[in-house]
Amino acid sequence: MEEKIGIFWFRQDLRLHDNLAILDLIKDCDKIIPVYIFDNDAIIGSASKWWLYYSLDSLDKSLRLKNSRLFYFNGQPYKILKTISHDHKISNIYWNRLYDKYSIERDSKIKENLKKLNINVKTYQGSLINEPWKIKNKSNSFFKVFTPFWKTCLEENQPIKLLSPPSKIETLFIKSSLLASKDDFKLFDQKATWINKLALNWVPGEEQALKNFKNFKNKVIENYSDGRDRPDKNYTSKLSPYLHFGEISPERIFEEIKKKKIIKNKSKKKFLAEIGWREFSYYLLYHFKNLDTENFQKKFDKFPWLFDKNLFTRWKKGQTGFPIVDAGMRQLWETGYIHNRVRMIVASFLVKNLQIHWHYGRDWFWECLVDADLASNSASWQWVAGSGADAAPYFRIFNPVLQSKKFDPEGEYIRKYIPELSRIESKYIHSPWEKQNNEYIQPIIDLKVSREKALSFYNQISKS
Ligand code: FAD
Repeated sequence: MEEKIGIFWFRQDLRLHDNLAILDLIKDCDKIIPVYIFDNDAIIGSASKWWLYYSLDSLDKSLRLKNSRLFYFNGQPYKILKTISHDHKISNIYWNRLYDKYSIERDSKIKENLKKLNINVKTYQGSLINEPWKIKNKSNSFFKVFTPFWKTCLEENQPIKLLSPPSKIETLFIKSSLLASKDDFKLFDQKATWINKLALNWVPGEEQALKNFKNFKNKVIENYSDGRDRPDKNYTSKLSPYLHFGEISPERIFEEIKKKKIIKNKSKKKFLAEIGWREFSYYLLYHFKNLDTENFQKKFDKFPWLFDKNLFTRWKKGQTGFPIVDAGMRQLWETGYIHNRVRMIVASFLVKNLQIHWHYGRDWFWECLVDADLASNSASWQWVAGSGADAAPYFRIFNPVLQSKKFDPEGEYIRKYIPELSRIESKYIHSPWEKQNNEYIQPIIDLKVSREKALSFYNQISKS
């Protein structure tokens, strides 16, 4: 009898634990070919490309420990899968599903075409706790508000079975003229200096994801409910890039935290709800396919946004004169990450105080974040802008000075990212312009005036 050969197509699931799809493929076939295809039409930001490179490296190493390896390809996924299938008589191809419009359309066509070639294609739920089409409200339609959505998810949640990695991977070591190396993907310039800073802050890959989660679960989560808003402390999990690339499954995080008895209930609930916000973002993206480009609330289509290139550049560079905003934007540039509270502050400053469209902020975050994620980034920008589902009301405008005093009281976070302010007295750290002869950048706008302007713009769209 002929050997059964299968392809496992890795995408945003760069892990071996909790990967039912690869376990099933190994069970269903005699040998498998693990592939990663770099699809040039899928848009990825620069910091994420750096992450992807090292994440693939880590996955390849894990596969090699199982006497396998990752086979890299560059180009259109269908053409590549079809060629390998033809050359190696492939019978089965499995992958974990994605939820954005581009991937859904691409993958549906690929599935249909491969089936016509008599290939058994199976797709799996690999990056969410609940499939977006399964959670519905009482009128059988989709939720637009987080709290009832998450309550329903918790009610419907079945016990999750955590899965060990495959013990052995029988692999077909192919030789194909299409084979590439990950350097062919030209993900970043190895000589660029910015990558050194990312490397100082992050270690991509499944092994590190599991290590970080264990540390968070055992040592950090206790302080989550009170500490998660403090950018000067280290009380959040920093799991977002690992979750984005699927190096750890949200199901593992959810199940292990839910089961752990000693965690204070308040912290546990709050943390699980944040995993819930991630689910809700994917849910919104699935049901509202253009969440990344169109306002969820249509009235915002008429918002009279402004655009001042100089102000936008000052925001991107962390030179607005408002220390908490500048520290956040510099943290982003240096580390590929911003603390959630500060993401909200810098985003509010852009869309409300500078009245610049959320699309500009979305794009800059997309380029610089190591955790840039179409669902979470789009939903969160719309949340801050007020145009999203269950969004912060537009008229609630963050005052960066008050936010800074409340959440970074001693200015430790600011001092870390703004060396010019490292020696300033604490009473001036949030508003250095109040100090005589201060040399820090003067504020680029007047908070009160810009706030009133934003509110008058909002009144225009509210009345119409
Ligand atoms: P924790 O507090 O430890 O939370 C655990 C996990 O829950 C996170 O890793 C993340 O996966 C999820 N999560 C937490 N908060 C949110 C949230 N508000 N929305 C969705 N998921 C959440 N998150 C991204 O993963 N990618 C993005 O591109 C992104 N862009 C954002 C843009 C703006 C303007 C704002 C305000 C928020 C954005 N977020 C984004 C959400 C949030 O800021 C990050 O997920 C969080 O800061 C990651 O840090 P953490 O892993 O330590 O979070």
